[in-house]
Amino acid sequence: MEKGFLELISPEQFRGVLATFSRLTSETLPLEGCLGRYLAAPVASREDLPALPRSGMDGYAVRAADCFGTTETNPSYLDLAGELDITEVSTEELQPGTCVRVVTGSSLPPGADAVVMVEHTADLGGGTIEIRKPSAPGENMMLAGEDAHAGQTALEPGIPLRPSEIAFLAALGILEVPVGRRPVAAILSTGDELIPPSATPRPGQIRDANAPALAAMAMQAGAEPLRMGIVPDSLEAIAAALAEAVDKADAVFLSGGSSVGVRDLTVEALSLLPDTELLVHGLAVSPGKPTILARSRGKAVWGLPGQVASAQVVMFVFGCPFLAHLAGDQAAFTRPRPSVRAVLARNVASRQGREDYVRVRLEESGDGGLKAHPLLGKSGLVKTLVQAQGLVRIPADLEGLEAGTTHQVVLL
Ligand code: AMP
Ligand code: MG
Repeated sequence: MEKGFLELISPEQFRGVLATFSRLTSETLPLEGCLGRYLAAPVASREDLPALPRSGMDGYAVRAADCFGTTETNPSYLDLAGELDITEVSTEELQPGTCVRVVTGSSLPPGADAVVMVEHTADLGGGTIEIRKPSAPGENMMLAGEDAHAGQTALEPGIPLRPSEIAFLAALGILEVPVGRRPVAAILSTGDELIPPSATPRPGQIRDANAPALAAMAMQAGAEPLRMGIVPDSLEAIAAALAEAVDKADAVFLSGGSSVGVRDLTVEALSLLPDTELLVHGLAVSPGKPTILARSRGKAVWGLPGQVASAQVVMFVFGCPFLAHLAGDQAAFTRPRPSVRAVLARNVASRQGREDYVRVRLEESGDGGLKAHPLLGKSGLVKTLVQAQGLVRIPADLEGLEAGTTHQVVLL
């Protein structure tokens, strides 16, 4: 097979290719197991939430019209018609000119359309309450059905289930939901020089640092890593390992051997696998140019660069969103990731025509902002990423970024 990259493809094109892989099937899980999963179907509410209008404050349920124009110097006076504790429900209509004392969470009596905070009132005794603030309909209260309406969609599919969605489902009494299956991500390393981290290297050997990093990142992305060890730089061994990985996993990540040198055998090994198509060899990004993507029996096989920084950056920028896509994230490639704004501490050069991901160390700049120090270390060093808190993207059409300019830093 002839050596050489295919045409380098842009990050946008790459994401387009990644999006062609089918999402995994779904399973129904109890709420406790849903954190970090993606909803696989719309969830409809069976009931109105809240079931009745509820107070958002301690105070007095009123008819807002009774308090129009009220001011500190021109208060309104209402007759206290009663008191509703947190579990009490009144079916008696609130009469004009009257109010009912409520606590936060009390159901409001029919006819009440606002709550005045206790801080803006005075109990004058003898059943008279002084109101010192105007009130607008809906103030300090929740309407019946404001959270969810019976029969309507409460949550859309394809969203991540965070603690807030889990709380919402619990409040609705929905105790199990369909979610995307958790992808199994096979992790392999190739290189004759590699030994497991548990072994002691002889001269010329190094410990496999990529597999632990990639497995950890896969877990962060919601996948289940399947560690499949180290494969020697042998065509047959790599092909056999990849075939087994495709069998056992939903996606395969092999680091090392992805470039175009004499020891770079991943592309050729892929050509030995049945029902396998090479989709990408060469990304217009740095670090990460020697990235491979193939489709083998419908599953994605990634060839990541062996350089630790390159492998981690490609996995973070593209691999993790891809795993989220498999898991059912409908916005996997566009969902904003946690990021901060920071001022670049020095100039960074970049070659036009490729997208750069500059690792940066963040520092508080004293004025409440953040400073980003580019870590222009040697990409073979493991520590550069330890020092980095984020990545700054330099778009392909720029020749670099200037010191003093402000940029979005995606947090690692
Ligand atoms: P390769 O992509 O196989 O040409 O590897 C590029 C560089 O990364 C070489 O110096 C390798 O020794 C190193 N490398 C490859 N795989 C790993 C790994 N799993 N852990 C640490 N370093 C690696
Ligand atoms: Mg190698």
